[in-house]
Amino acid sequence: MSEVARASVLKPKGPRRLSVADARARILAEIEPVRGTEKVALRSALGRVAAADVVSPLDVPAHTNAAVDGYALAGSELPAEGSKEFRVIGTAWAGRPFTGVVGRGECVQIMTGAPIPTGADTVVLQENVEASAERVSIPSGEQPRLNVRAAGEDVAKGELALSAGKRIQPAELGMLASLGFGEVFVYRRPRVAFFSTGDELRSIGEPLGLGQVYDSNRYTLYGMLTQLGVEIQDMGVIRDDREAVHQAFVEAAAHADAIITSGGVSVGEADHVKAALDALGKMSFWQVAMRPGRPLTFGRVGNAAFFGLPGNPVAVMVTFYQLVQPGLRRLMGEPAPAAPPMFSARSLSALQTRLGRTEFIRGVLARDESGELVVRSTGGQGSGILSSMSEANCFIVLPPECGDTEPGAIVSVQPFNTLF
Ligand code: AMP
Ligand code: MG
Repeated sequence: MSEVARASVLKPKGPRRLSVADARARILAEIEPVRGTEKVALRSALGRVAAADVVSPLDVPAHTNAAVDGYALAGSELPAEGSKEFRVIGTAWAGRPFTGVVGRGECVQIMTGAPIPTGADTVVLQENVEASAERVSIPSGEQPRLNVRAAGEDVAKGELALSAGKRIQPAELGMLASLGFGEVFVYRRPRVAFFSTGDELRSIGEPLGLGQVYDSNRYTLYGMLTQLGVEIQDMGVIRDDREAVHQAFVEAAAHADAIITSGGVSVGEADHVKAALDALGKMSFWQVAMRPGRPLTFGRVGNAAFFGLPGNPVAVMVTFYQLVQPGLRRLMGEPAPAAPPMFSARSLSALQTRLGRTEFIRGVLARDESGELVVRSTGGQGSGILSSMSEANCFIVLPPECGDTEPGAIVSVQPFNTLF
C-alpha cells in the first residue's frame, strides 16, 4: 500500500480519540438486534432475551390468601378493647381450602397460602392468640385486613409481565413459571467468531520457543462470551500475514453476526487487521481515550459487527467489558443495556494516571474496620499482567480530567460482579 493510501486507512474521522462514553454510544447506535427469533422451553430461556412482550393470562396470586399462619375472620369483628372469643369452625390449608362461610363470632384456622374463606378478610397471627380446643381468644390491638395477600398483587391478569428486550434471569424464569408459561419467544443467539493474531502465539501443547507465548486471549474471550450467552466460533490463531488475516475475515463474515480479533492493531505493528477491514468492510472508529485499550477498533465486515481488540491480555478484558459486551447485548436483543453501576470508595493507594484518558485500574474493594468502602490497586498495572485481573475484584475508574491521586482520595469503582 502506498503511504497516501495507508494514511487514508489510518486517518480517523472526527475527533482523534473517542471518549469511552462516546465509543459506547456509537457502538450501541450502530448495532441492531439479530433478526431471527425462536420459541424455546422455559429453562432454555435462561440468559436469552425476550423477543416479544409477555402479557399475564392470569392473576398471581390467583386468589386472595393468607400471608401467615393464624386465624381468618372478619376484621369488623375484632375487639376494640379487652379480648374476644371466637369459635374455630374449620381449617384452611394452601392445597385444601375451607369452602364454608365464616359468620359472626367465628374464625377458621388458616395456613400460609390458603385462600381466605368467604366472610373473612383478616388473618390474626397464630402467636397473638390464645387457643383452646375449639375456641380462640383474640386481644384488642389487631388490625383489620392485615396478613392478607390480594389476588393479582404480584402480576394482574392482562398486565405486561415481561417486555421484549428483557434479559431472562432466574427471577424472570420463576415469574414466567408462576404465569404458567412452559415456553418463551426469544431472539436467536448471535454467532460470534473470534481469532487471535500474532506470529509469537503458540497453542497449548506446543513447546515455547524464545519470544513465544501461549495464546491466552482466546480463553478469556471464550469465558466472557460463554458467560454472556452467545454462540461462539473459535477460529484459532492467525499468522501476521496479510493474506491469512484477509482470508480469516472472509470466513468469519460468512457466518458470524459479530467478529472479534485480538492483536495486530497497536501502533508499530503491521496493520493487517486494518488493511483487511479497509478491503472488506468499513471502519467506524479506532482509538478510544482509555487505558488500557486505546487501539480498539470498531466497524463492520459484511453484515457482521467488528471489534478489533488490542493484543495485551488485560486490554482484551477491559475493552470487552466496557465496549464489546454492551454491543453484543444489543445484538442479543436488549434495547439499551444499562451501564454498570459505579460506587464511591476511598483509595488506599497512590494512583498514577494520564490526563485525557479514562484509566481502568485493577483494584481490590473491601470494607475497613469502620465499615467504609476502601479500594487498593493490585500494584503493577502493565496491560500484560493478567494475574492482577485474577487478584482484582473491581476496576477503579479514573476519568480523563483526573490527574494522579494520593491515598485518601475518593474514587469510582466498578465491581466485577456487576459487569456480567
Ligand atoms: P499486539 O497488540 O499484537 O501488538 O500485542 C501486544 C502484546 O500482547 C504482545 O506482547 C503480544 O505478544 C501479546 N498478545 C497478543 N495476542 C495475544 C494472545 N492471544 N495471548 C496472549 N498474549 C497476546
Ligand atoms: Mg501482534
